[in-house]
Amino acid sequence: MSQEIAALAVTGARQVVAWAERAFASAIAEYGSEAKVSFPNTGYFLPVIYGVTGLKVARLEDIAEVLTHIRTLMPPENAGSADLPQALDAGMAALFAAEVIEAIRYLRQPQFYGAPAPRADVVWLGAADDTILRKRGIQFVDGTAPGFAVCVGAAPDATTAAALARELQENHLYVFMAGTSRGTSMAEQLAVRGVETGWETRLVPCGRDITAVVFAMGFAVRVALSFGALVPGDRERLVPYMRERVQAFVLALGEINPEKCAFAVGALNFGFPVVAEKHLPEIGDIGLCKYECLVGGVPYEQMVKRALEVRGLKIKIARPPIPVAFGPAFEGETLRKPATFVEFGGQHTPAFELVRTLTRDEVADGRITVAGPDVDAVPEGGRLPLGIVVDIYGRRMHPDFEPVLERRLHHYINYAEGVWHIGQRDLIWVRISKEAFAKGFRLRHLGDILCAMLKDEFGGIIDRVQVALYTRKEEVLKLREEARAYYARRDARLENLRDESVDTFYACTLCQTFAPSHVCVVLPERVGLCGAVSWLDARAAYEINPHGCNRPVPRSGLIDPVKGEWAACNTFIREQSHGAVERVCFYSIMDAPHTSCGCFEAIVSILPECNGFLVVNREYSGMTPSGMTFSTLAGSIGGGVQTPGFMGIARSYLASRKFIRAEGGLARVVWMPRSLKEQMRPALLRAAAAAALPEGFIDMVADEEVGVTVDAILPFLEEKGHPALRLDPLF
Ligand code: SF4
Ligand code: ZN
Repeated sequence: MSQEIAALAVTGARQVVAWAERAFASAIAEYGSEAKVSFPNTGYFLPVIYGVTGLKVARLEDIAEVLTHIRTLMPPENAGSADLPQALDAGMAALFAAEVIEAIRYLRQPQFYGAPAPRADVVWLGAADDTILRKRGIQFVDGTAPGFAVCVGAAPDATTAAALARELQENHLYVFMAGTSRGTSMAEQLAVRGVETGWETRLVPCGRDITAVVFAMGFAVRVALSFGALVPGDRERLVPYMRERVQAFVLALGEINPEKCAFAVGALNFGFPVVAEKHLPEIGDIGLCKYECLVGGVPYEQMVKRALEVRGLKIKIARPPIPVAFGPAFEGETLRKPATFVEFGGQHTPAFELVRTLTRDEVADGRITVAGPDVDAVPEGGRLPLGIVVDIYGRRMHPDFEPVLERRLHHYINYAEGVWHIGQRDLIWVRISKEAFAKGFRLRHLGDILCAMLKDEFGGIIDRVQVALYTRKEEVLKLREEARAYYARRDARLENLRDESVDTFYACTLCQTFAPSHVCVVLPERVGLCGAVSWLDARAAYEINPHGCNRPVPRSGLIDPVKGEWAACNTFIREQSHGAVERVCFYSIMDAPHTSCGCFEAIVSILPECNGFLVVNREYSGMTPSGMTFSTLAGSIGGGVQTPGFMGIARSYLASRKFIRAEGGLARVVWMPRSLKEQMRPALLRAAAAAALPEGFIDMVADEEVGVTVDAILPFLEEKGHPALRLDPLF
């Protein structure tokens, strides 16, 4: 490493460490050593510090130990010029110090950052909480987000910043922004150009101060910890893991001052290469990153391309022929009424969408028909009915795959910049913005999008696809009736789908990218614990790509029908978990329960005193009667291990007939957060009735308003006569 860079990094690190020492001293004086410090709603403490050292910072006094550790990482004051290992350690120290500074900021000004969504008065989001981590982290697992860029500083002007952001978005990357150059920041430059920032658009403003860069690093560390089953403090495994699997890089914008340099070198510790606009002495491949470590003098127009090369990221992008930008980063844009040129559905006009399977001769591949007036036939702010009918022919297509494909329409349509879609089936609501209209977006482009994307993603089962768009009211109404008959037939088929009625289950090993010993087995009556993979989805995915992460598991060699254990499934799981898991009982939580990666929507946790279980969903950040919050529970059950009494699940699994059947099923649920109860009420009512539970069972289940301790809820359960109290003891 060049002496110049090393010296600059050490100088910068000294500065950041000095800031942290000062912030700590004055916070102690003001708040006392007992004061609680934390980032919002997370089980990962201060994640970079926690991940790398294992130190749990929960109170101000805990920071003293971190500072001691930081000092050991800094080269002595008068040691002469620093070498590579010293600069790397100093960079790490700068990251720890930045995390301390930001934690103290949260203590002093809890409202400083506008998370989770940018507020009108602050664009900066600060630290992502665990709900965001899960929702976004899974995208790094399933490949919808190939990686992320950490942009430090600002571009020379707003136009350049917007172009850079757009290019990163079109490559599906997340963009974290922190720090300033010449008094402005990239996020502010984007605001000037009216570019929408926030998690939804993947443009994440972390903070204006350079220290906020640590939020991006903390996000990466938590992705590794939560999906990779890594032990906090195991730096030997964390670093290679981040280098191999968390595909991130740093873009250094504007001038390079010592602090910026310290953080850039800090990022090298995790294998994140740095690409800078300014000319800097290059650091080649020295075994830290995949290829080069630091490349300088890259003009803005070439930055993204160069960064992808240096990082070794190959991104495959399907691009339909449409006049607006396209990609998942545009999926989260909001499109409000005043910016809307035309809208469809949303209770105002009839609208629906349908995917049908037809015979070969009935489908003309690539044909797009617009029947009725196009959007230029209505005045600005107008409305039209809309029927979207997608016809598929494929030798390996099966009508069971129709709903799987149909659910993708929502995403594809949203990928277009300035086009917005919500709902499904006959409840859709679509808007096209004035800007998209002005750029020439017309109805046929919806067809272009759907043809291109369905072929791209489902080429394995789709040979031909045609799209028809209807906008005449009578025709839409008539076709909507036909569509409703389709939906009804599908629902009836799904209702009747039972574990016993199929001879094959499907495994999903998608999360092995992050949790190497975890294997999800998806049953007709047990959706994957992320809630996103049903048996039909997994089967379709297998048909599409037999070499992907969904593989058939024969349902044979029944060992225990009540606990749901099959010899063939055990063999499969043993192999796929590389021997880590011997056997799994799908219907039991006490005996060899299904493993959990990090993606579960909710956790089931034993409450022995109540002879039952509590269920807590990820969105609920309060305490539970187990004495642990969701975050704490999640930290102890994830990573592909079996923990009897504890299990991660998809919310909808609660209403399954097979939900912890061996232990008595739904009757064992004694507590859940109120919001979850309300959200699930219709499904739970049906499930309770099917299980012949007493009328009003749902309201016998305690929630946080009854209490968050066993002592508080037990009298309630007794008074209501909760059936769990009469079931066999769990032990
Ligand atoms: Fe991950 Fe399981 Fe969901 Fe597959 S089904 S994505 S392995 S949580
Ligand atoms: Zn997972």
